[in-house]
Amino acid sequence: MNSRFAPSPTGYLHIGGARTALFAWAWAKNQQGKFILRIEDTDLARSSKASVAAILEGMSWLGLDYDEGPYFQTEHFERYKTVISQLLNSGKAYYCECSEKRLQELRDGLMAKGEKAKYDGHCRHKNLSSGVVRFQNPAAGNVVFTDLVKGKISVNNEELDDLIIARTDGSPTYNLTVVVDDFDMKIDVVIRGDDHINNTPKQINLYQALGWKLPDFAHLPMILGADGSRLSKRHGAVSVMAYREAGFLPEALLNYLARLGWSHGDKELFSTAEIIELFELKNVNKAPASFDADKLLWLNQHYIQTAPAQHLLDELAWHLQKNQIEITNEIDIFKVIESLRKRSKTLVEMAFGLKMFYQDFTTFDENLGKKHFKNKAPLELLLAKLMVLEAWTAAEIKAIIEKVAEELSVGFGKVGQPFRLALSGDGNAGSIDLVAELLGKDKVLKRLQMALEF
Ligand code: GLU
Repeated sequence: MNSRFAPSPTGYLHIGGARTALFAWAWAKNQQGKFILRIEDTDLARSSKASVAAILEGMSWLGLDYDEGPYFQTEHFERYKTVISQLLNSGKAYYCECSEKRLQELRDGLMAKGEKAKYDGHCRHKNLSSGVVRFQNPAAGNVVFTDLVKGKISVNNEELDDLIIARTDGSPTYNLTVVVDDFDMKIDVVIRGDDHINNTPKQINLYQALGWKLPDFAHLPMILGADGSRLSKRHGAVSVMAYREAGFLPEALLNYLARLGWSHGDKELFSTAEIIELFELKNVNKAPASFDADKLLWLNQHYIQTAPAQHLLDELAWHLQKNQIEITNEIDIFKVIESLRKRSKTLVEMAFGLKMFYQDFTTFDENLGKKHFKNKAPLELLLAKLMVLEAWTAAEIKAIIEKVAEELSVGFGKVGQPFRLALSGDGNAGSIDLVAELLGKDKVLKRLQMALEF
């Protein structure tokens, strides 16, 4: 049982596209069928190699692997030509030479009468041999199909136009290419956004004219932004890779997308394996789904807290490289990750928190420095005591902070805060005793000295 994802390479992989890809992927995997990737690049003016690369990158990051492809429609032109000839020869398609002017007048006339703008079949029986090629849509009867998400749909053929299937230059149009490829690729269910639902009856008529077995169709409801309008750039980041940049884990985004219009009881957390195991088209909602950024962040935090440290490190690597943070063996990265994961909602926060362990700095935050380093006594006393500390553990370090506070008759914070600033440079650090332990004695003493010179 095969499904496919058929993006047009005219931009990045968007949240909506990724959700479509995920559902088609999950369905195929669940059925132990093939998931096929087909790039619909026939619109040469709008397609680009960079977009193809961006789509592949997004899918690969999300782990949406395909069993076949990527196929490119531009490599199938001969096949489309053959099918168009077949339709012409069997009288199911015809050439049309109507001028743009005539078509415009026709449209205006029909619309003035309150009728649907539709081609009037002017060239249908003229036996022309050039121009655009139109499919001769059946004149009467209904196209009826049961969409696996939306249910039974019936459209009267009188509503449907004699569709252009080839332009004057012979190039095929979307409805023709999609039918040919879905048939050739033995697609069992066409899973796509419901923005294409109006095309489906036209495509069904093409299948029937060609004598081809119909696939099933499943049209996914659209995704809305918080304001109830269709999710778009206006609502913030919509490209999958922007979520990577913002520090999301792929499994968090995948889990989030899975629940965007699909459910399995009231379960919220799905591993990738569970998505595959439990996915059913009948549980896709008919109504549009709303994008909820807070929920996505909540999921991300959940996965950051629970993921194996090695996996976090693998995903972090991309952020570290981007920020030129180099992990050295001096400090155990896994201990650092453990110390940070509870405080981090995103990998960006985590990478940011990692920085102080692997990058020395030369200055402190000016305002915080003025505030916390004014009184040197706590830092001086800390330095003196830490210098001679032998068992370099968080517990011992904590005891020293407490002792310094006690000797100076101040609260723990009056020592902890300057210490935190001294070690981090900007005051952003977790539990200070643990941070000091992880940093190691050398770095701690150096940074304390630097703070004293502030
Ligand atoms: N290439 C179309 C698009 O990106 C999808 C066509 C389809 O899935 O049938 O909107």
